[in-house]
Amino acid sequence: MAKRRRVRWDRVFVVFGPLLLLILILSFSCHHRETDDSGSDQPIVTNQSVESSMAAETSPDAVPAAVQKPLTICIDAGHGGNDSGATDKSAEENADKKEHKRLEKDDNLNLALAVRDAFHTKYPDVQIIMTRETDVYVELQERCDIANNANADFFISLHRNSSTTGSGVEIWINNDSMGDNTWDKLMAEYIMDWLDKVGISERRGIHYGFREGDGNYESNNYHVNRYTNMPSCLVEMGFMSSKADNRNFDDHLYEYADAIADAMIELLEDKGLYPVKALQ
Ligand SMILES: [Zn+2]
Repeated sequence: MAKRRRVRWDRVFVVFGPLLLLILILSFSCHHRETDDSGSDQPIVTNQSVESSMAAETSPDAVPAAVQKPLTICIDAGHGGNDSGATDKSAEENADKKEHKRLEKDDNLNLALAVRDAFHTKYPDVQIIMTRETDVYVELQERCDIANNANADFFISLHRNSSTTGSGVEIWINNDSMGDNTWDKLMAEYIMDWLDKVGISERRGIHYGFREGDGNYESNNYHVNRYTNMPSCLVEMGFMSSKADNRNFDDHLYEYADAIADAMIELLEDKGLYPVKALQ
């Protein structure tokens, strides 16, 4: 009897030893995976805190606790720093008269700042992200990254036309939008309508792709339209070479800024997306 009860530890080890080893390996790999998950969560948490601190900076009362994320629009002032963009050729020719040389980068920034201020004044619950707020050079991809990292809902790039002939406003959207009413096209149409209400020399329409696409405009896209993750458009606010457009730009700068803000809000209202509803 005593013999039958004796535990054979060597057999116990042979049978359960590998099982214990397996359990140890499995628990270690689970723990490792958990660590990985929390690691990949890290940047998202960082983004949210960056986003909310930016919201606090731009509009302190804008984000009710019940709303997951404020409606976010990224405003992109084209060019900047040592990239002047288009210049007013007539002013260049008259350089000997010491006329102020008009640079596209300055007009773009002035309009972008005015659009930002229009949103802050009229729609303070909308969070505005800027790709630049001073005369600095920002890479095209960095502009997209700023909008993408902030998880912006819309992207509006502001430019003035560099062509030497012509006048009026045209808006460019990603050629993926061709043929249907995507958000790109909608936002471009609303913005065009509102700018037209203020008064522009010519309504040149919504265009797809890229102007300088070796004859085939639709074969390419403006970088900021292609590499932003959200609906986007690029507004050419009249021609730098047109006296009428320059006069319009100077006389109606703040009305144009209001118009762009109003256009976006009207579009969102029409789609039932504004005011942003609190989550239950
Ligand atoms: Zn430009």
